[in-house]
Amino acid sequence: QSDFQALRQLGAKHITKGLGRITEGIMVKGEGSYVYYDDGRKYLDFTCGIGVTNLGHAHERVSRAAADQCMGIVHSQCSIAMHEPYLRLIQRLLPVMPDPSLDSFFFWNSGSEAVEASIKMSRYLTGRQNVICMQGAYHGRTYGAMAVTKSKTIYSEFTGPLMPGVYSIPFPYWHHFNLPPTTPTSTLVEQSLYQLDLLLAQQTAPKDTACIIVESVLGEGGYVPTPPEFLQGLRQVCDKHGIILIIDEVQSGFGRASDGKGLFAVEESGVKPDILIIAKGLGNGFPISGVISRSELTDKLKPGSMGGTYAGNAVSCAAAAEVLQVFHDEKILDNVAARSQQLFSSLRALQSSNDLGPYILDVRGKGLMIGVEFVTPKSTTDGIVPDVGVVAGAPEKMASRVAKKCIEKGMLILTTSVYETIRFIPPLNVSEEDVKKGFGIFEEAVREVVR
Ligand code: PMP
Repeated sequence: QSDFQALRQLGAKHITKGLGRITEGIMVKGEGSYVYYDDGRKYLDFTCGIGVTNLGHAHERVSRAAADQCMGIVHSQCSIAMHEPYLRLIQRLLPVMPDPSLDSFFFWNSGSEAVEASIKMSRYLTGRQNVICMQGAYHGRTYGAMAVTKSKTIYSEFTGPLMPGVYSIPFPYWHHFNLPPTTPTSTLVEQSLYQLDLLLAQQTAPKDTACIIVESVLGEGGYVPTPPEFLQGLRQVCDKHGIILIIDEVQSGFGRASDGKGLFAVEESGVKPDILIIAKGLGNGFPISGVISRSELTDKLKPGSMGGTYAGNAVSCAAAAEVLQVFHDEKILDNVAARSQQLFSSLRALQSSNDLGPYILDVRGKGLMIGVEFVTPKSTTDGIVPDVGVVAGAPEKMASRVAKKCIEKGMLILTTSVYETIRFIPPLNVSEEDVKKGFGIFEEAVREVVR
């Protein structure tokens, strides 16, 4: 205990203040849907390390696959030799791709790096420079990824100039047009696609535009599912002008935003991405991401133009290959469908209740990527106050207060976006009982905050 005390002090002094944190203390163990701290605290984890540990913490089969791999090749470097887990992973990914044309793989470590690689590839393949992204989007922390991130200014303030050649259009979310939440999706999609037409006519000509990058569910921008008609509209524009369509499923992929059938949220739309970006749930905590495209496109890349020391690390690939096997063996998508329905119906019942309903503006999402947005009459007088989590001195929003209460009551949960949104990201194999427990904690927290 005293050693942990010393470590806590060391952390307080020596970890950069640039990191925010929603809990104090030292996480020492994770098991299934729960995590444990040095002082004996136990939390139900509805964050999954931001949508990563989708099969729960320390899934035995995944950890075992990684440990076994450690006794073989840990690192080979992709420019020196292929290794078996790289190939096994491709073998398992091929049949679950949203479209069979996605047959060319490049593995990286993080989502941000995969975003960088996809932009680089698009520029090279088209010979064009400009990139179009979405207002509200989050694609990562590196310079290119930060340039196409439009969800909060805190990620890039005082750090510019960012990568040039980036343009954005409003993602079809009612806030972005200052319209009421009851606005039909078709109107929002029409508005966004109109802005895209305008952008291509006024600011970046199609012949200068390399790619459009979009998330299948707007994640850090508010947990808003991307309407299938919007993705179809983007596809049409890309086809018309020879622009590459990049679909970012870093957070929504691997069953997180599944309708119980496919692993990827884009599947509902029938849209074929030119480049699909994956990460997070793929490795269940082992760092790995992927840039997946068509060989017809990637055959044009020069050998040696892509690479990276740890890209496609053998231990991470072995863990990821096992993740996919577990998805199949443990029928994870069936659980996603059942638990999604359970959580949605509890949250919607709360939204229609007389006492707490008036505080809940919207319950939305897909699969187990669910956002609850609160009503804040005050936000109209204060303007939009970004929810920057735990930054000292930041004005506390209702969503942050509810999240803090949940944590006090034993559940880890996060907010998202500059609006009043709480996000539910439980493990995809979470039990019925734990969803009930998590919802109960949330309900109590909301009740105490509005009291
Ligand atoms: N894209 C999306 C949609 C994300 O949600 C994230 C991470 N939250 C990223 C990219 C960046 O991934 P990473 O943090 O692994 O760099």
